[in-house]
Amino acid sequence: MKPAAVHEFYRRLSDVNPEPSTELKYVNAYTLLVAVVLSAQATDVGVNKATGPLFKVVDTPEKMVKLGEMGLRDYIKTIGLFNAKAKNVIALSELLIANHGSEVPQTREELEALPGVGRKTANVVLNVIFGHHTIAVDTHIFRVGNRTGLAPGKNPLEVELRLEKVTPPEFKQHAHHWLILHGRYICKARSPDCWRCVVAELCAFKPKTPAPDSAESQKAKAQKKAAKKPAKKPPARKKSKRRAA
Ligand code: SF4
Repeated sequence: MKPAAVHEFYRRLSDVNPEPSTELKYVNAYTLLVAVVLSAQATDVGVNKATGPLFKVVDTPEKMVKLGEMGLRDYIKTIGLFNAKAKNVIALSELLIANHGSEVPQTREELEALPGVGRKTANVVLNVIFGHHTIAVDTHIFRVGNRTGLAPGKNPLEVELRLEKVTPPEFKQHAHHWLILHGRYICKARSPDCWRCVVAELCAFKPKTPAPDSAESQKAKAQKKAAKKPAKKPPARKKSKRRAA
């Protein structure tokens, strides 16, 4: 995508949502860190359901350590991989107390040294809490980057580095949230809503999805239905009665 188109791409997303934010619920830097660790391979909605009651009673590393691994598991057992995540959250809370004065560190190196914290989690915390211009590439951003031609890449790191290179400075602060929300609600994995997409003219994805009630869409549905119908069986041949010789 040419630089002018990239600028227009972000300008349109920023027009729709000038102040985007994370959909994960949190009450301070520590609870955001915990929420992001819990969100690996889980939906924000699912994480929020579990952390709502949890963060009412636990909002510091000390309280988390006191709750313990077993106690934490009870709160987060609806989230995938909850056993491993509970272990990591307790271990990272102990490390925050021991090495960081119970505060969330502000550098990528220190964050990534915590159990359960990878590059994506570190990027989210650095961006949301500390205002760094980081872009955490999750499954939605990876898809949007590749599908639109904005930042093609074979893996999340390639897409991240490409996005860092092409995103104009004035859009870097919110780029992560614009792209993630665009991927989650418009440029969806199975069937993107191209018909109501504000960046459609700029996007390289050719088979644009038509509006559900358009003639084009109705025709495609009818063709799909027809293809699914089992072919009619040919009429059974009558057995010829042979006369006994
Ligand atoms: S036009 Fe379609 S494929 Fe392109 S960004 Fe919009 S929703 Fe995604």
